[in-house]
Amino acid sequence: MQPFAFQRAASEDDAIALAARPDAVFVAGGTTLIDLMKLNVATPGALVDINALPLTGIDVLADGAIRIGALVRNSDLAHHADVQATCPVLSQALLAGASAQLRNMATVGGNLLQRTRCYYFRDPIYACNKRTPGAGCAAMEGFNRIHAVLGVSDHCIATHPSDMAVALVALDADVHIRGKAGERRVAITDFHLLPGDTPDKETVVAAGELVTHVTIPARRFAQRSAYVKLRDRASYEFALASAAAALDLHDGVVRDVRIALGGVATKPWRATAAEDVLRGGKADAAMFAAAADAALRDATPRRDNAYKIELAKRAVIRALHLASTSGGNRS
Ligand code: SF4
Repeated sequence: MQPFAFQRAASEDDAIALAARPDAVFVAGGTTLIDLMKLNVATPGALVDINALPLTGIDVLADGAIRIGALVRNSDLAHHADVQATCPVLSQALLAGASAQLRNMATVGGNLLQRTRCYYFRDPIYACNKRTPGAGCAAMEGFNRIHAVLGVSDHCIATHPSDMAVALVALDADVHIRGKAGERRVAITDFHLLPGDTPDKETVVAAGELVTHVTIPARRFAQRSAYVKLRDRASYEFALASAAAALDLHDGVVRDVRIALGGVATKPWRATAAEDVLRGGKADAAMFAAAADAALRDATPRRDNAYKIELAKRAVIRALHLASTSGGNRS
């Protein structure tokens, strides 16, 4: 681990001022960052500890939206009564992630900003365009069983590891960011970037900017929602394929729907083609299968990860079935 400076921020203004140093990064739970520092994959010159900032609230707003502070711990969010009642997919996704100990430390902001689990990224001995732009990508011809089949480029095929962010995509969430230039609100679908030819740029957050909170609007489909995660072991493991589904049904017909995928794409992936298949049609097994086919139609597998296509389809079908039979917006 490289030497680094450590400073505690007392306010949002203080945090943003301290992060003006170009080699500074924020630290909250530290569940990704400290690992990467130990591996010499992340080598910040300064850590700005933001744990003292008042960003730990979970509030239901007057219009029914939920406002979640960036420092809310994953376990607190997962077990919050309003979250469980109004958007169960989020609680389920959080509880499917990591371990109980990690969920007690990991924050909402850190979860959104977590780095890929690509083993070539996490070992500096290998070429990695994300870690060192222009260095090449060891995963392309390497062992790429865990890598992405959607949103890939010739420069990077790493998956985004978050479960929580997949649920947030299915809930139309917004991320709120604050920096020297002021505050801005970004749709979750625009927050993470495709790798393209700059896989080192992973989100729209600029250096020195702070994620302050997330908002989830009140939507009819949020209540009837479910998350399915398929992985090598039942706990403390990242997704090989996952699906979040949220349905607004009326007399068995899909009025509106959101489907998002995890474990198979370079960013939390909204499957709009699958949603289009379902909208206005019957919520039945045949339509769910057609939607799953549409979700993976553009998949581009590598040598070792073609199995993910069928796996992700089954996750979509299962998530849609669970959402459709859950106790949500029956009308
Ligand atoms: Fe690096 Fe992406 Fe290639 Fe993995 S897939 S080695 S993160 S460039």
